[in-house]
Amino acid sequence: MGISDISDSIFRAVEDASDGVSEMFEPVIRLGVTGLSRAGKTVFITSLVANLLDRGRMPQLLAATEGRIVSAFLQPQPDDTIPRFDYETHLAALTGKTPHWPHSTRSISQLRISLKIQPAGLLSGIKGLRTIHIDIIDYPGEWLLDLPLLNQTYAEWSENTLVQARSPARVSLAEGWLAQLEGFDTTAELDEGQAQELAKTFTAYLAASREAGFSGCAPGRFLLPGDLDGSPVLTFSPLERPEKVRSKTLYAEFERRFSAYKRKVVKPFFRDHFSKIDRQIVLVDVMGAVHAGPQAVEDLRNAMSDILASFRPGKNTWLSYILRKRVEKILFAATKADHLHHLQHPQLTGLLRAMLRDAKDRADFKGAKTAAISLASLRATVEQTVKHEGENLDCVQGVLLETGKVAAMHAGELPADPAHLLVPARKGEAAWLDGDFEVMRFAPPVLTRQNGEGLPHIRLDKAIQFLIGDRL
Ligand code: GDP
Repeated sequence: MGISDISDSIFRAVEDASDGVSEMFEPVIRLGVTGLSRAGKTVFITSLVANLLDRGRMPQLLAATEGRIVSAFLQPQPDDTIPRFDYETHLAALTGKTPHWPHSTRSISQLRISLKIQPAGLLSGIKGLRTIHIDIIDYPGEWLLDLPLLNQTYAEWSENTLVQARSPARVSLAEGWLAQLEGFDTTAELDEGQAQELAKTFTAYLAASREAGFSGCAPGRFLLPGDLDGSPVLTFSPLERPEKVRSKTLYAEFERRFSAYKRKVVKPFFRDHFSKIDRQIVLVDVMGAVHAGPQAVEDLRNAMSDILASFRPGKNTWLSYILRKRVEKILFAATKADHLHHLQHPQLTGLLRAMLRDAKDRADFKGAKTAAISLASLRATVEQTVKHEGENLDCVQGVLLETGKVAAMHAGELPADPAHLLVPARKGEAAWLDGDFEVMRFAPPVLTRQNGEGLPHIRLDKAIQFLIGDRL
C-alpha cells in the first residue's frame, strides 16, 4: 500500500464515522445511475424522480402500492461540490407543449429525493414515520471504463489501443489518426502544436468509434471533457514506443500526461464518488449496439465485464483499498424498450442477461446481486399490428424525431436464443446473417397527465423495486 493509499483510507474512515451517526436516524441510499453517453441516463433520472414524487404509475413499487410512502420531496443534496441534477429543466423539456428530449449527461451530477415512509410489518404500529433519503448520482459510464487504465503503463496502453485501432472493425474509423502517427518522430523534442493535433485526431477516432456503436473508447474524458477541455491532462495520444525514451521528447511528455490523467482524473472520481455508491443501475442501449452490428455487440460485452470488474476489484488493488463499502445490487437495464413491441421484450432482456452472465464469468465476479431488465423511462410509442406482405407484423408507432411524421416501426425479430447474436458477435462477423435491425428515433409524446401520475414508462417501477425496494 502506498502513502497516498494509506491517506485515502484514513480520510475514508473519518468520513465514514461522521456519516454513520447521522445515517442511523435518517438512512441514505446512494443510487448510482450510469451508462455510456446516450444510453438514457438523463431521461431515466427525470422520469424516476417524477414517478417517485407522483406514484400513480408505480404499481410494482411495493411500498407505494401498500400506501406506505406518505410523501416524497426534493431536498438540497449533501455534496456541496457536485452540480445538482437539473431535474426541473429536464422535466420541463419533456412535459412542455412541444416536448423535446433533454440535454444528455456530460458530467457528474446529484439529486436528493426524500421519502417519508410508514415502516412495514411488526414495526408498523409501534414506530412513527421514517425519513429515507435517496441520493441519485448520475455519472458517465465512460468514466468507469477508465478503471483498467490504472493497471497499465503508458507503453501497454498505447500498444493495446493501437492494436484495437488497426483491427478490421475499427481501422477505417482510425485512418486519419493512424496516418498522422506515421509521419511523427516521437523522439523529437515536444512541440505543443503537434501534441494538440495528435490529441485532436485521436479524440476524433474515439468519437467516431462511439458513433459507430463501439463501447470501449477510453480514456473516457476525451469524449466528455467537461471543464478539463483543452488541458494538458487531455492532450495526449497513444504512441509507438521508441527504443530509448529521452526526456523532453513527445513520447516522454505523453507518458507523463497519461500518468497525470490516471492520478488527477481517474483516481479522484473513484475515490470521491464511486466509492460511496450503495446500489447501481447501468443503462445499456442494447438495441443501438444490435443495430450497429456484431462487432459493436461484442464490444459492449467487453465493456460490461470491465464495468463489473470495477464493482468487485481484486484484492490488493488500489480500488479495493479505497472502496468504503460493497455495492449491494447492480441492475443492468436495456433502455428504450418502447422501440420494440412488448412481445419482443423477453428476447431483449434475454440478450442482456446472456451478456451479463458472460461478463460475470470474464470479470470473475461474485459480488453484488445482479439482474437484467428491459425498460423505457419515457414511453414514446404505442403498439400496433400492421399487415405486411399478407402477414401480421407487431410494430410500435410514434412521431419520428427527424420528420415529425407518424410512423410504425418493426425493429427486426430478436431471436429467442441470444446465442444467435452472441456467437457471430464473438466471431467478429461484419454483419448479421439473417437480416438487419432498424432503430428510429421517436419524439417524446405530448403528455396529458392526471393528478398523481408521473411520466408514462415501461418497468421503471420494477427496476426501482429491485434496486431499493428492500430498504423501504
Ligand atoms: P444520456 O446521455 O445517458 O444522459 O442519455 P439521454 O437520457 O439524454 O437519452 C439519449 C436519447 O435517447 C434521448 O435524447 C432520446 O432520444 C432517447 N431515449 C432515452 N430514453 C428513452 C426512452 O425511454 N424511450 C425512447 N423512445 N427514447 C429514449
